[in-house]
Amino acid sequence: MLPTYQDYLRENGLVELPKYLCPQPGCKVKGPAFTIVNIAPEGEPYNFICSICHDYAQNQIELRNRLRKEQEDELRDPWSTGHGAEIRAIRNRLLEQSNWAIQADSPLTPICRLLFIEYRKLLNSLTVDYAAPYLAVMPEAPALEFVTP
Ligand SMILES: [Zn+2]
Repeated sequence: MLPTYQDYLRENGLVELPKYLCPQPGCKVKGPAFTIVNIAPEGEPYNFICSICHDYAQNQIELRNRLRKEQEDELRDPWSTGHGAEIRAIRNRLLEQSNWAIQADSPLTPICRLLFIEYRKLLNSLTVDYAAPYLAVMPEAPALEFVTP
């Protein structure tokens, strides 16, 4: 729990004020004393801001940390997040949708079936063949050729 302005006043034997203007520049919050929190690190002088500014600052820090983590993940494996993950999801869907074409009971001609096997090989190795998602080129699906009865 962060020490409040009330705690600070009590500790220092000061009179409690019913209202306290948030010292954060641009903030117009005039809250009851208990909404004022100390954001100074331990051992540092008190630095009070209102709980709204405090929550906002916390959210900004969390957002920044999340973005930094996403960027680090992307650097580590560009296919794991963001654009890379989207392309991978599309690739996976294309693999699912073309699975029937290579089955033993496929209605496609043997040549067409082989073309689908090659096509799916390219889809499978997409994340290996291309170092970065923005370089990736999706292979084109072969035209369907059915065995004529
Ligand atoms: Zn404030």
